[in-house]
Amino acid sequence: MERVERVVVGAGVIGLAVARALALAGREVVILEAAETFGTVTSSRNSEVIHAGVYYPEGSLKARLCVRGKALLYDYLAERGIAHERCEKLIVATPDGGEAEIQALRAVRARAAAAGVDLAWLSAAEAMALEPDGLLCTAALASPTTGIVDSHGLMLALLGDAQAAGAMLAVHAPVTDGRVTDGGLALDVGGAEPMTLVANGVVNCAGLGAQPLSRVLAGLPAETVPPLRYAKGVYFSLAGRAPFRRLIYPVPGQAGLGIHYTRDLGGQGRFGPDVAWIDQIDYTVDEGRRPAFEASIRRYWPDLPDGTLHPAYAGIRPKIQAPGAPAHDFVIQGPDETRVPGYTALYGIESPGLTACLAIAEMVAEVAA
Ligand SMILES: Cc1cc2nc3c(=O)[nH]c(=O)nc-3n(C[C@H](O)[C@H](O)[C@H](O)COP(=O)(O)OP(=O)(O)OC[C@H]3O[C@@H](n4cnc5c(N)ncnc54)[C@H](O)[C@@H]3O)c2cc1C
Repeated sequence: MERVERVVVGAGVIGLAVARALALAGREVVILEAAETFGTVTSSRNSEVIHAGVYYPEGSLKARLCVRGKALLYDYLAERGIAHERCEKLIVATPDGGEAEIQALRAVRARAAAAGVDLAWLSAAEAMALEPDGLLCTAALASPTTGIVDSHGLMLALLGDAQAAGAMLAVHAPVTDGRVTDGGLALDVGGAEPMTLVANGVVNCAGLGAQPLSRVLAGLPAETVPPLRYAKGVYFSLAGRAPFRRLIYPVPGQAGLGIHYTRDLGGQGRFGPDVAWIDQIDYTVDEGRRPAFEASIRRYWPDLPDGTLHPAYAGIRPKIQAPGAPAHDFVIQGPDETRVPGYTALYGIESPGLTACLAIAEMVAEVAA
């Protein structure tokens, strides 16, 4: 049985950012990751967008941590020379959506203003002049602080900082069981070299595995663990030249932001993600969704050529709310809320988790360092 000061479970962008913050605060940190390397799950299955923070209810963790995280992230990316681009985004109302979408744009603008994020209102002509290669809209909001980032480069830098401050990453190290003891939290680690680690503090950053991990911890009050539901989103990539310079988003839906256009730093355009509630983790991309994608995209880009969308990849949002219910906030429980000394748990870290990672880590370090 080995003893350590802090264990972080999960080496996605959140676990890596948390491990970095704890190590920089002088703690001895071991990161336990079930997969063969870091960042293979949700952190590499997303849109790689640095969100401005325009969608979330005033005062929510998502609103606060997105805005704070965006500022910390841009500074960190610049300081560490990690590839990114402040490419801006347009949220568009479409002719098909009529007056309802114009109203939705107004609601987004009001929410953004409450969060301290400036958006510019553009007429149809102004927006279409900005993107002359076929954008169609009736009005738009321009978000100047939205960007894109190389998420792998970001994770590599976070891991490098954590390791430079003494943290250790163990891969092929799934936590399979655990219990609360008088001497700390005991975690059973499976994989090739099974062992038991006892830690004074544990931070659960297991993403889709967060609720399952808390549920196997003997001594943790079950009622503190929120529900977990899977909302899958698939992406299609676009063959040929990317049509727009800015990211193009329709008005948001209830469980996702709508099938939007993004591009990566290499100029490859892609569309997604849609929303499908599923019972089991499954990352296949069903080609049968292509017609629905084409129909959504043609609402704002009628010239999308036939046969240019190709199945790309899928991600799964760790949702707390049931299908059809209003969006749930991030849940970040320190030891007071988990009711287990030394145990911090993060649940429902869906979008904008990538953008917010440094702000989440800052908040977690306050209760877990
Ligand atoms: C479709 C989609 C699009 C998104 N787009 C954006 C976007 O554009 N911008 C943005 O800001 N955010 C976006 N997000 C959100 C963002 O991707 C996530 O918030 C973020 O990646 C979550 O990181 P994580 O570290 O919590 O989870 P993960 O990356 O899933 O990491 C969790 C890790 O824990 C490990 N693990 C699980 N259980 C155990 C265990 N028992 N023992 C050991 N290890 C374990 C897993 O193997 C995994 O590596 C999107 C999310 C989705 C699904």
